[in-house]
Amino acid sequence: MAPSYPTESLAAEPRHIESPCAQSRETRPDHAAAQQAALEALHRYFGYDSFRTGQAGLVDAILAGRDVLGVMPTGAGKSICYQIPATLLPGLTIVISPLISLMRDQVDALNDLGIPAAYINTTQGMDEQGMVLAQAARGDVKLLYVAPERLETERMRSFAARVRISLITVDEAHCVSQWGQDFRSSYLGIGEFIAALPSRPTVAAFTATATQRVRHDIVALLNLQHPQVTVTGFDRPNLFFDILRKPTNAKNVWIANYVIDHADESGIVYCATRKETEALAGLLAERGVSAVAYHGGMSAQNRNDAQRAFVTDAAPVVVATNAFGMGIDKSNVRYVIHHNMPESIEAYYQEAGRAGRDGEPGRCTLLWNDSDIVTRRRLLDMDSQNDRMSEDEREVVRLSKRRLLDAMIGYCRTTECLHAYMTRYFADPTSGAIADAVTATGKTGLRAVDVANNAAGTAADESGVMKSGLRDSDPVKQSVAGASATPAKPRGCGNCANCLSTFATIDVTDIARSISRCVHDLNQNFGMGKIVAVLRGSKTQDLLARHLDACPSYGALDQVPQARVRDVLNQMTTDGFLTVSEGRLPVVHFGPRAAVTAGSDFHYEIKRIERPAAVGGRTGQLRSGHTLGSDASMDTEVDEPLFERLRVLRRDIAREIGKPPYIVFSDKTLRDMTRIRPMTNAQFLAVNGVGENKLNLYGKRFMEAIRSFNA
Ligand code: ADP
Repeated sequence: MAPSYPTESLAAEPRHIESPCAQSRETRPDHAAAQQAALEALHRYFGYDSFRTGQAGLVDAILAGRDVLGVMPTGAGKSICYQIPATLLPGLTIVISPLISLMRDQVDALNDLGIPAAYINTTQGMDEQGMVLAQAARGDVKLLYVAPERLETERMRSFAARVRISLITVDEAHCVSQWGQDFRSSYLGIGEFIAALPSRPTVAAFTATATQRVRHDIVALLNLQHPQVTVTGFDRPNLFFDILRKPTNAKNVWIANYVIDHADESGIVYCATRKETEALAGLLAERGVSAVAYHGGMSAQNRNDAQRAFVTDAAPVVVATNAFGMGIDKSNVRYVIHHNMPESIEAYYQEAGRAGRDGEPGRCTLLWNDSDIVTRRRLLDMDSQNDRMSEDEREVVRLSKRRLLDAMIGYCRTTECLHAYMTRYFADPTSGAIADAVTATGKTGLRAVDVANNAAGTAADESGVMKSGLRDSDPVKQSVAGASATPAKPRGCGNCANCLSTFATIDVTDIARSISRCVHDLNQNFGMGKIVAVLRGSKTQDLLARHLDACPSYGALDQVPQARVRDVLNQMTTDGFLTVSEGRLPVVHFGPRAAVTAGSDFHYEIKRIERPAAVGGRTGQLRSGHTLGSDASMDTEVDEPLFERLRVLRRDIAREIGKPPYIVFSDKTLRDMTRIRPMTNAQFLAVNGVGENKLNLYGKRFMEAIRSFNA
């Protein structure tokens, strides 16, 4: 059943809103002092010099006692937004987090930074839980991590009633929404838990899921009070996005080769089914890679072991279903490969986004083919068979899932900059990549990967195209020849397969124009099926009874295969020329860029991607000349032998203290260390990601290692 939504809009549905209050506070000395204290804490505990986009505003608002909702992509640094306030606020911060298996890592990481933290969950006995709660009540713990189910226990309620709680943080807040992909009914109890507290703490919610509907649910269901909503840019410039169209039987071999070529890197391979994860993990094991499988069908113990093996780098690769990963904190995942097409861009971005959380280069490769689409559609129809919904509700859910899937298919087919595609999907106005991609394609306009005629996924199928009925001067042939003769220049972001690929193109301008004309002729009153039928001159009863055969565009594409017309129509939707309304009978309307299709210089191509030109080697080498965000200062060459030496030391220390290596130091910190080669405490503190506690814990050993390496 659909939840109800708040009637007023979310603070004008902002992108990155620094609240008006924040500005008026600007001059207040207590505010300035709070900002200064936050920066000092960032430096002292985390060893970072400045906040990233969105962080300062959120920290600021929380310290001023205002509820917040932070919507930031994975890896953007949501945790710091509540961890810094937690160190400065007088009372306890409770962090509600969905995965108990990860709490230990999160708490270990904080303690290693010198921030007292603890967790309460079912892995502990009653006595241990009692001890932790007593510590927290004494003020010896600043952050207490709990699973939402815990809040319902009497013990937790009575604890919360007598302890001073300054802040409640809801991590992965989209779990409260039935529209999110990870709905957890226990999240619905959070609002009630907060309402029952003797005095209401500040409430901070964080998520990487960006749809408006989910955002509305979070505000309404957690009952956030006039929250400051901050939505940061969704682009992840350090990630290299790659799409490969591969026949099913070639996928595993490709993956195995990739994993072997990147044996010293950590990666996640996502598969659609449990069987596939086991088959692929087995194949990798046969070829000498220590990979673990992870899926929902394994026992809790086995899943836990697999996760630990991956997190501690004992197994560099995990082959998993989408059951794996929510809340995975491992910062040094260098690649995420998808064996099949996921169900939505949201799911894909979340899973792929687990690469490169440390800001270092990561590679996200999506392998797909047409049978993935068929499988996804079948799964989607089966998924919608939920008995608790009425027939109408089921249909609405099915159509909305269809649309999500269509956008995913659009991603596989587009030859637009993949960063631009993502950021446009999340309606991210901060992205310059979109403008770049559009201008970079220039007169050639936007291009989409041809799928209808290219089952083999290798060379462009010219004959198929010519049979498809394109006319006159045969632009198809020209552009195919043109593209194969001249490799595309790097364009757009320069950090995705599309921007670095050479293309063979098929001109579908005429088809796109006819579709636009037909939408106009039909007064934007019909769905995709009717538009295709009209354009192809269908003689069905229904169509004739409505006199749609009188429409000027009737039969305009009678020579073009139906699949092609549909593909172009779908791509026009994902490229913003058309939109499809929601509801039981979705109708095609003109999109924000519709006017372009009427222009005399409109040009629209369907293209197919050959292999990207500039990929290979270590993931870290993908990023030639590419600059990362403000805190990514590692553009200079890294000394690989020293880096390896420091990695070994990190692994040894991790073993000694029984914690994952990335908790000791991130890859990014080690790289900065190879650059700076610190010899003194002050120099060591200057390394990105080194705070005072880390200097005290590990400084001496790392400096010794560097000294002996230099010698
Ligand atoms: P998210 O929860 O949004 O996925 P995390 O909070 O795990 O992201 O942060 C990802 C990585 O970025 C972590 O290694 C974190 O230490 C680092 N990070 C966060 N904020 C900063 C900052 N201001 N400067 C440098 N690194 C940062």
